[in-house]
Amino acid sequence: MQSIRPKPAKKRKHAAMTRIPGRPAKPSPKLSGKRRRVSPEIGEIVRKRAEAEAAIADARKSQERLREAIDILPQGIVFLDADGRYILWNKKYSEIYNRSSDLFKPGARLQDTLRVGVARGEYPEAVGREEEWITERLARMYQPGARHEQTLADGRCILIEERLTEDGGVVGLRVDITELKQREASFRLLFDSNPVPMIVCALDDERILGVNDAAIEHYGYSRAEFEKLTIRSVQAFETELPWGGDRSSDEQTARTWKHVRADGALIDLAIYSRQLVCHDQPAVLLALMDITERKRAEARLAFMAQHDGLTGLPNRNLLRQQMDDILLHTRRSAEKVAVLVLGLDNFKAVNDTLGHGIGDKLLRGVAKRLRSTLREEDTLARLNSDEFAIIQSGLTRPEDAVLLSRRLLEAIGDPYLLDGHSVVIGASIGIAMAPGDGDESEKLLKNADMALSRAKNEQRGTFSFFEAGMDARAQSRRKIEIDLRDAIQNDVLLPYYQPLVDLATGRITGFEALVRWPHPDRGMVSPAEFIPVAEETGLINPLGALMLRRACADAALWPDDVRIAVNLSPLQFRVGNLLSMVMDVLKQTGLPARRLELEITETLLLEKSSQVLATLHALRALGVRISMDDFGTGYSSLSYLRSFPFDKIKIDQSFVRDLGSNRDAQAIVRSIISLGMGLGVTITAEGVETEAELSCLRAEGCHEGQGFLFSRARPNAEIVALLQAQRGPEFVAPQDPSEDAALVA
Ligand code: C2E
Ligand code: MG
Ligand code: MG
Repeated sequence: MQSIRPKPAKKRKHAAMTRIPGRPAKPSPKLSGKRRRVSPEIGEIVRKRAEAEAAIADARKSQERLREAIDILPQGIVFLDADGRYILWNKKYSEIYNRSSDLFKPGARLQDTLRVGVARGEYPEAVGREEEWITERLARMYQPGARHEQTLADGRCILIEERLTEDGGVVGLRVDITELKQREASFRLLFDSNPVPMIVCALDDERILGVNDAAIEHYGYSRAEFEKLTIRSVQAFETELPWGGDRSSDEQTARTWKHVRADGALIDLAIYSRQLVCHDQPAVLLALMDITERKRAEARLAFMAQHDGLTGLPNRNLLRQQMDDILLHTRRSAEKVAVLVLGLDNFKAVNDTLGHGIGDKLLRGVAKRLRSTLREEDTLARLNSDEFAIIQSGLTRPEDAVLLSRRLLEAIGDPYLLDGHSVVIGASIGIAMAPGDGDESEKLLKNADMALSRAKNEQRGTFSFFEAGMDARAQSRRKIEIDLRDAIQNDVLLPYYQPLVDLATGRITGFEALVRWPHPDRGMVSPAEFIPVAEETGLINPLGALMLRRACADAALWPDDVRIAVNLSPLQFRVGNLLSMVMDVLKQTGLPARRLELEITETLLLEKSSQVLATLHALRALGVRISMDDFGTGYSSLSYLRSFPFDKIKIDQSFVRDLGSNRDAQAIVRSIISLGMGLGVTITAEGVETEAELSCLRAEGCHEGQGFLFSRARPNAEIVALLQAQRGPEFVAPQDPSEDAALVA
């Protein structure tokens, strides 16, 4: 659009406006006097006039140059005189006010053009308060450095900046900031309605200058409260500022921060920052992502990776780290470190008989007792289901580990009352000492574990130190497992039979089947050596099934009044098919159920499990007899007698062995016998080796005996001979009797 410019100063009136200050305009010499007679005065006038014309031409030129100069400015510019009249303006100025540019005329007063503009509705801010608006607008003009924004009818926004000139006039600048304003408005919208909490705060004093609705909702402070705070005051800890104290850079990547909400809760935030100018001051915009839940989940995961979920104790990973630290720390000192691995005895039986719920409670109870027995600085961890590890540091002698082991075993041993059940659990401990038994966590744990195996195998409920050579034993144990698996697969295992003798008549009432393993390299391997390995590895199930089948098949060919006793491991009750297996075997071998006796140990009845008791009752309902083996070696043997109606009690051989020498043993055997009589149960004494024991047992009224005095366990081929020797022609052997070694008394 074409601008309307002030016309060149042709008339005096106009010339006065462009007059160079201090030089009054002179009348033109052309207009006065005659040419012919040129007096010296006239000559002077003519010269002065020429000078003046030259000056005017100069002034015009410079005004022209000034206009050209201001025309290329990107801002609108206007000069007004002291009366507020237009002197000069540039193209941009006319463009900005294009609608009222017809009013701009040199000498026209701004207030008049404003008034016309207002009347034409060109200033929406003036609507309804026209005169007031004009007065305010003019008053602003004379405020030094005044700056304000003006909205035009077409929606454009103009920034006005005006300054007084030396002669009392005004130079005004106009900048079209419409785009800027639009950007600002969209930023505001983006800020205010953003679902991400946002805060703007001053870079200098960290004051919060603005917050969006999401921030108000998230933090719980009102807008007014917020604006009284600094960003530092919502930080949970006195640390560097979210924008890292670096004023020059924006944070593209988030920093994580902890803030305090109005309710006092701490929240974790990932903060992105961007520097900007807000209300003319350097500020920073913070976008806050609440990562509290993520952090919590991460912390939970990190905890879970290093702790046991059930007891909350460190797991093997964390234990190893802690042990490495301790070992590093003590490497240069004379201190010793003891690594104790504690294993619960028969924990599986608790789990199986009472259920996992009680098993879990028991483990928590054990963990609690262990923790309270230890010093603060001792480390306790759970290694696996029923094994715990303890690191005792700062020891001077191994005896300290002995004392601690005793305390731990004692603490664990007291009964636990769990959901109305009184549960007793024992434990064994293996100990390895650093630096002697190893200086790395893995090796120490392995060695302590080996010592634990020894404690468990030799005498449960005690502790055992690692010794050189245990490793070899552990290896031989592994070899047993491999060989045993082969032996079962190749049907190498054999039942041997040991007679049970009626002490009143001397007659053989039955035989106990005892497994024998003829090993190609080692000769006959004792069950005491491989039954525990079979139980640990689960091989006891095929082994037990095999023994039952073989024993019943053999016994089916013996006289009808001779029973067969077969040992059952508690683990065979866990598989769940015991009852049907027994029924199958009886059916297939044709052995009447009344001739089968199943021997169970007290560990099976550690606690009354409905499943175990149901199986026992079902077996008994078939007609099978149930014997309690090794009676007196468990924790609460008497109470087990109440839980199931046993047909037979076998007094453990440890009591029988002491009969001759120990009066207490005599008293115990006597009471077991009278107890059995009272309950109407057969009493069998195991391990009868001497005549003295035999006569003592007879005198006490014991029903049955089993022991080397009568016979060792023998292969089936010898049983036939044995029975024939005792019973004579009454017993017709199914095959030729071989040599008869021992005779029944
Ligand atoms: P147990 O059931 O108490 O069997 C009695 C053990 O005492 C047998 O040991 C037997 O040889 C031994 N014994 C018998 N009379 C005497 C004696 O006068 N003096 C001495 N010192 N010992 C005597 P064995 O055969 O070594 O069996 C040990 C244990 O292995 C058995 O104890 C039983 O718990 C287990 N076992 C044996 N065979 C089997 C089986 O087929 N299945 C299961 N689950 N366990 C079995
Ligand atoms: Mg037995
Ligand atoms: Mg026994």
